[in-house]
Amino acid sequence: MPELPEVETIARGLRQPLIGRTITGVSVDWPRSVATHTVEGLRAELIGQRIEGIRRRAKYLIFDLSTGALLIHLKMTGRLAVVPADEPRAAHDHVVFDLDDGRQLRFSDARKFGRVYWVPDPEWIVGGLGPEPLSEEFTPELLRQRLAGRSRQLKPLLLDQTFVAGVGNIYANEALWLAGLSPLRRSDSLTDQEVEQLYQGIRQALRRGLAHGGSSINWYRQADGSKGHYQEEFLVHDRAARPCPRCGTPIQRAMIGQRSSFYCPNCQV
Ligand SMILES: [Zn+2]
Repeated sequence: MPELPEVETIARGLRQPLIGRTITGVSVDWPRSVATHTVEGLRAELIGQRIEGIRRRAKYLIFDLSTGALLIHLKMTGRLAVVPADEPRAAHDHVVFDLDDGRQLRFSDARKFGRVYWVPDPEWIVGGLGPEPLSEEFTPELLRQRLAGRSRQLKPLLLDQTFVAGVGNIYANEALWLAGLSPLRRSDSLTDQEVEQLYQGIRQALRRGLAHGGSSINWYRQADGSKGHYQEEFLVHDRAARPCPRCGTPIQRAMIGQRSSFYCPNCQV
């Protein structure tokens, strides 16, 4: 599933082609892709609206419109592309937005878990999520308080979107390796020094991903259709039995909270 670096990369790539455009039509061939409305209802809300801004919150893309906002969550296999309207539709293009410049924004989604929302205020959808880890609001002190208030293993806690927003399996594995912390550690057992290491690890992992345009291990593509390259830079993710880049010990894979964790059993304590 695309995580913060992938969704942020898509948001950046969509600004140039989409900001200032007006939505002139909407067609939907899989109505369950629309979480908040019937197809007719979505059309009524969107047609005539201008796209004023495009941003990311957690793993959601937010299109700020003249009134309210369109949100898209890509889930497992969602992709977005801006193409000329006369380009043939692909089999999985489930929601298509016509634009006033003769192009279309197409949301394709092979496994159909992705969702489209229109809401008067995006906070209705994203208001309950945790802090943005690359924002100024996210400080070592805030992380310390949030860790201390829970007694959970670090790995599943990092994946909890109400704890910190936008981190998924790949970047949680990378962040814990960068921090030198075991995915099994209890959140309330960290020293102040270890909280600082975790804080730096989370931010460094996400920035590394962003710097390479995200990770294209399966469906994710940037807004222009090109792949991200962070999969070529993985430190531990998907590297079972390969040497730890820090100490040479073979990387271990274990299921923790039903997700694959990759970590060094020697230097992550
Ligand atoms: Zn190691």
